[in-house]
Amino acid sequence: MSLVEDLRGARRRFSVEFSPAHDEATAARQWRAVERLAPLGPLFASVTYGAGGGDKAGTVELASRIARSTPVRPVAHLTAVGQPADQLAQVVDDLLAGGVRDVLALRGDPDGDPRAPWRPHPQGFQHADQLVRLALRRGAESVGVAAFPLGHPESPDPDTDLRHLLGKFRAGAGFAIAQLTFDVEDFLRLRDRLAATGSDVPLLPGLLPVTSPRVLEVTRRLTDGHEPSWLHRRLDPFLDDRGAFREEGMRVAVEDGRRLLAEGVPVLHLYSLNAASNVEALVGELGLAHAPGGSCRTPVVP
Ligand code: FAD
Repeated sequence: MSLVEDLRGARRRFSVEFSPAHDEATAARQWRAVERLAPLGPLFASVTYGAGGGDKAGTVELASRIARSTPVRPVAHLTAVGQPADQLAQVVDDLLAGGVRDVLALRGDPDGDPRAPWRPHPQGFQHADQLVRLALRRGAESVGVAAFPLGHPESPDPDTDLRHLLGKFRAGAGFAIAQLTFDVEDFLRLRDRLAATGSDVPLLPGLLPVTSPRVLEVTRRLTDGHEPSWLHRRLDPFLDDRGAFREEGMRVAVEDGRRLLAEGVPVLHLYSLNAASNVEALVGELGLAHAPGGSCRTPVVP
């Protein structure tokens, strides 16, 4: 079955995101995380591309290793940043040769300053829809794209952004992963607006347990500083108590996850930050583990 078919049939599942490691110690820790999470049956494991200065070749390497050494389906992110179309085609070919069949096609942001004006490579792509077409032409099985619950920051308004998301689906994208948001309602609104257009393309919400002040900082960057004041009201009292901060951050993520599942969202995309424990805890609390053969394990905590 293709990834899109799997996504369409999925109930109470999760996917997990990794980023290429910058050093050997992180790579070793990350691989231990991959090995610990694989038996929980993620629907796929995605590997970011060049995000935060990450090593781009590392994406091909890690995604191919996941394909080779685990039963988990890897999805490689790919961006159009700083590369001509022929090099991007080569990356897709390298992924396919490494056993990676599925790609998340993104425009990306300018290297160095993500908020600088976007300038495509002269022989490259202006927008992600072009990369979707390229990946499919080269033989990728399923191609996903990014979606933005609050509208992409460069978009004049959410409706324009939604039109462009639909354009990416018309280009052949078969699923979308939404940008991290702390208000479940933001995601649900996008899901409903998308459904109102007649689209039934699977849309996954991102979920990141904010279990330390460092993670809060990461999320602040990912959400363009849009973290809500209620999150601060819940977490700030624990800034000097790591254990209590972690517990409260996990409680927030579990509440969000439960709400999404109760709203009928079938698959949650969990950010691992290259470590297993938070994802493992969330998967247990939410009952998202999936034993080989198809039966779901029961939640660790009801
Ligand atoms: P696009 O779809 O090209 O959209 C960019 C802007 O152009 C939007 O305002 C959109 O409305 C508009 N637009 C889109 N299509 C058209 C069109 N045909 N004509 C006119 N306007 C158009 N970045 C990384 O560097 N590496 C990663 O691994 C990575 N992973 C990500 C994963 C997820 C789930 C998400 C949500 C984002 C990720 N990003 C990553 C960040 C992403 O690259 C940036 O947010 C980037 O600014 C937008 O990428 P996009 O693919 O949505 O671009």
